[in-house]
Amino acid sequence: MSESVRKVVILGSGPAGLTAGIYAARANLEPLIVHGPQPGGQLTTTTDVENYPGFAEGIMGPELMEEMRKQAERFDAKVEQKLATKVDLSSRPFSIWFDEEEIKTETLIISTGATARTLGLDREWDLMGHGLSTCATCDGAFFREQEIVVIGGGDSAAEEALFLTKFGKRVRVVHRRDELRASKIMAERVLAHPKIEMIWNSELVELKGEKPQGISGGILKDVNTGETTEIECAAIFYAIGHTPNTELFKGQLDMDENGYLITKPDSTRTNIEGVFACGDVQDHVFRQAVTAAGSGCMGAIEAERFLAEHE
Ligand code: NDP
Repeated sequence: MSESVRKVVILGSGPAGLTAGIYAARANLEPLIVHGPQPGGQLTTTTDVENYPGFAEGIMGPELMEEMRKQAERFDAKVEQKLATKVDLSSRPFSIWFDEEEIKTETLIISTGATARTLGLDREWDLMGHGLSTCATCDGAFFREQEIVVIGGGDSAAEEALFLTKFGKRVRVVHRRDELRASKIMAERVLAHPKIEMIWNSELVELKGEKPQGISGGILKDVNTGETTEIECAAIFYAIGHTPNTELFKGQLDMDENGYLITKPDSTRTNIEGVFACGDVQDHVFRQAVTAAGSGCMGAIEAERFLAEHE
């Protein structure tokens, strides 16, 4: 193996990528972990994380990711910020390009995550984590007995709205049409729930609130009449879908119809030997930091075993 060929390259630095990095580094594989456009991943857009085991008092999302990065670096993982622009997985060693720079690697662990879709409203990124959220499981418990608004009409919106009824005084679901996209059973549950109210044919067009108190409401626009109304609430949850960050691998790796990478059952193996996928890039079901970290660990162990078998 030439010196310029790495044993493990990990694309993505969320909980999946950094956990893969910790395990690969402790196995002396000297992994290169590449930060993408959002170092630390989706958790860096949240504030308190109360459901990551080991932190009885909770921990701030960015701080948790910083700790994971330092833990990986402690075992000599190399963490670099650059953007992969092209990959060639047709033969080993695989090639990854970062504009002009080419890096070759025996194994590749993909943990590029998914990006929650947002509406693109003004001050969205300012208020994210301050009453505005893309994850009910992560942030719902902060809004006990308060007014909560969910945006969207698919299964995610239905699931999040139902989950949020455990906390909110009332949950209003704002949907841009007059019919839910969610599966029949989920839609029926939402429509029958005493704590949920639907606001049909409406779009959120403006966010109200200032940091640090956060969201105080928003402006809704009726898509038929153009009329606007103000809505008061303590939290707004976007549930308008996620986009897996898999553009780079199209035509090379197997994906489902929504673009999520397909991995073998009970494994992080993809359709190409030596390429592993972990975290939200292959999981549209759980999407939790701890499940991503768990699959990152699996990815590193599988990469290590693959290298042992092929060396
Ligand atoms: P979907 O793409 O299914 O739904 C997105 C929803 O958001 C739609 O109702 C859509 O409206 C709305 N939306 C999209 N863009 C905007 C926008 N710019 N402004 C306002 N509204 C918008 O995504 P989901 O995340 O809900 O689901 C993704 C996949 O995961 C689906 O296959 C789903 O079935 C599955 N899933 C399954 C679950 C389960 O079985 N428990 C739970 C969660 C997801 P419109 O309807 O008008 O297009």
